[in-house]
Amino acid sequence: MLKLHGNALDSNIVVGSRQLFTVTRSSALVNSEKRRYAYLLDGMDVDSDYGCYLDFGGTHKSSSHMDGYLNLPKEMGYLAEGDIISVEPSGHANVVFRVKSPHNTILLTERCNHYCLMCSQPPKDVDDSWLMSEAMGLLDLIPKETGNIGFSGGEPTLYGAQFIELISKAKKSLPTTAIDVLSNGRRFSDLQFTQAYAAINHPDCLLGIPIYSDDPVRHDYIVQSSGAFDETVRGILNLKKYNQKVEIRIVIHKQSIERLVQTCEFIARNLLFVDHVALMGLEMMGFTRANLDSLWIDPIEYKDTLSEAVAVLNAYGIRASVYNHQLCLVNPDVLPNYVKSISDWKNEFVDECNPCQRKSECGGFFSSSKIHRYSDNISPFIG
Ligand code: SF4
Repeated sequence: MLKLHGNALDSNIVVGSRQLFTVTRSSALVNSEKRRYAYLLDGMDVDSDYGCYLDFGGTHKSSSHMDGYLNLPKEMGYLAEGDIISVEPSGHANVVFRVKSPHNTILLTERCNHYCLMCSQPPKDVDDSWLMSEAMGLLDLIPKETGNIGFSGGEPTLYGAQFIELISKAKKSLPTTAIDVLSNGRRFSDLQFTQAYAAINHPDCLLGIPIYSDDPVRHDYIVQSSGAFDETVRGILNLKKYNQKVEIRIVIHKQSIERLVQTCEFIARNLLFVDHVALMGLEMMGFTRANLDSLWIDPIEYKDTLSEAVAVLNAYGIRASVYNHQLCLVNPDVLPNYVKSISDWKNEFVDECNPCQRKSECGGFFSSSKIHRYSDNISPFIG
């Protein structure tokens, strides 16, 4: 797994609060610009006007006397021109944007009004509104040619009007960048909020909203919040009334698999106009690990059910994808819907995959699955 944050091994940096810096090797920047850049040390003499100077594992220790020197773990040495980091007063650095990654997701909050059994980012009841301020600042720094960024939580819409401002700013700052937002959709049951969101008229903003069952009681149990199903469905209906893009996301586990086919039938009958449905494998993070016994089911046990669910969506002409699954654990009939979806920084393979001749077509594993739980039925394609 790629290391996305780390404590400084050695630091001479003074910042009052978390501060964003764009990584650069350029010595041709005008002086007034240099303060917002983190210069990648390469052993050559360099001006002293940059916001900070990045070293990895102390390779350029001779520069450690410089104001702004920041010696990060060598595993973060992949940082390159245009990447963006946020640096805390302690010298702790977080990688918040990587130019070469198609999977840049910006965390907006850890607060949430759900408490999902399999939440990968367990909610915290804290004031973390600084994350929203940082995201606003980040939009000014992300390169205009960026193809796609994501916003996640927690529940981003808990910010209310500030969330609307964020999407507005994303449209102005990055007019050709597609946006993916992960939301439970409940806030959109408020028609006025949906109208304000729709009024932004973002050309390419997709809301990824989960529905875990056609049975309201089961959905509410999975998200641990009563009344969630009704508000989420009303939210989706409001969004589509105003022609907003919606993706329905179904995480597959022991609690959702029993009614997966019926859930897809429910979507086909009642929400046919959604833009995409994602059928997703389980990530072994956060609450999933604590609730593993009530969630884990080997994908080989549900591969026929998955085929049936995909067939329902395909039959109704709904665009559908199978995410986060290993190629050897799905039936060939779902391959037209199979997508290699796991974000690059947490995507790995296990030793059993070494001889597999179809590894390049396979989505592989979450790093967390490799550590905590994966199928006993991995079978490499050979010959
Ligand atoms: S053996 Fe590994 S690489 Fe091959 S299909 Fe299965 S999970 Fe993928």
